Amino acid sequence: MSVPRLLLAVALLVVGRPASARTLVHCGTLIDGRSASAQRDVTIVVDGQRIAAVEAGFAAPAAGDRVIDLKSCTVTPGWIDCHVHLESQQSATSALEGIQLNPGDRALQSAYYAKKTLLAGFTTVRNLGDRSNGSVALRRAIGLGMAEGPRIYTAGKSIATTGGHADPTNGRARELMGDPGPAEGVINGPDEARKAVRQRYKEGADVIKITATGGVLSQATSGMAPQFTAEELRAIVETARDYGLKVAAHAHGTEGMKRAVEAGVASIEHGTFMTDEVIALMKQRGTYFVPTISAGRFVAEMAKVDGYFTPVVQPKAAAIGPVIQATFQRAWQAGVKIAFGTDQGVAPHGENAREFIYMVEAGMPVLTAIQSATIEAARLLGAEKEIGSIEAGKFADLVAVPGDLLADIRLVLKVNFVMKGGTVYRQ
Ligand SMILES: [Zn+2]
Repeated sequence: MSVPRLLLAVALLVVGRPASARTLVHCGTLIDGRSASAQRDVTIVVDGQRIAAVEAGFAAPAAGDRVIDLKSCTVTPGWIDCHVHLESQQSATSALEGIQLNPGDRALQSAYYAKKTLLAGFTTVRNLGDRSNGSVALRRAIGLGMAEGPRIYTAGKSIATTGGHADPTNGRARELMGDPGPAEGVINGPDEARKAVRQRYKEGADVIKITATGGVLSQATSGMAPQFTAEELRAIVETARDYGLKVAAHAHGTEGMKRAVEAGVASIEHGTFMTDEVIALMKQRGTYFVPTISAGRFVAEMAKVDGYFTPVVQPKAAAIGPVIQATFQRAWQAGVKIAFGTDQGVAPHGENAREFIYMVEAGMPVLTAIQSATIEAARLLGAEKEIGSIEAGKFADLVAVPGDLLADIRLVLKVNFVMKGGTVYRQ
């Protein structure tokens, strides 16, 4: 075909095509994720998977346009939870499930929990650690439309040290312990640290998760001790950087937290015993804090229930759980960057939005709390060009609650509309 004929054919194709059906979302109140205040009476124009425009007033539909009436609601960008574990959910039998379940069990569970999470208003999650790399399969299935769930950024298996938090064989009989290595995410020394990062990259991870200190739910005595040397931490962060991956560091105790921040991790998870020194260091380095107050409150509550946790875990849950909300308050007031995260899979999936209530309880304004789960979380993911605010060009990820969210944060538990990438999942 000659060039003029080709141009004519293309022109006919464009003109002859019916105007693509758009969706007009009429929002009574809009929190766009970026602005310092909410706006009233706004139309979000959605075309395909993305936002085409944001217009003042309630725009009238053209022929073929669909209108979604959220005039009595508050609309925000889809929420982002920066710390979940979709493969599992804590229960009184969790310790046993660790050796009973197969990868298939976990994969099916994760699809179920992913859907719950999406319907609760969370259109994106960062999955910080699984056992059998199921979150990579889940991410693929959701991307192909074979399962319903949030956009997933996953770490795959967390990286730990021998006996450390996330060594998958902790608490087993000696003959069942074996000696897991970098392939299973257990390292000793900088060389193995580098190998473990490269293995995660090979398996499809989007982010690297390390357990910089002991943790509450592992079958090991210390919840706070540092578990990596500074040298190992540097090897992890530098190798991750080579592959374009950020590092998220679980940390409760001060020394391990400090080493992780100094090594250059992107975020501290939990951060329980964060001192003023660590706060100053995080501000200086621009390190995000992902508080996970939800997990702290859940384990503190369950530590009071006889027999819920094993005797090794119970005292750690009682000591660490109640501290996190106050740490969040101090860190936020001091000006540390906050990205929303729950550690869901500790507390039940689908109840992620309770974290907003806990943040506001600790003094954070509603709008700031929403931003921590939208634009700030998107920045931590390195995805702020695609998600995290309601602006032309970004994915149409929208959540709505009935009424005025600025007046009552508890409305986050009453989500009545969820759109992800232009598709409505709840209305
Ligand atoms: Zn976690």
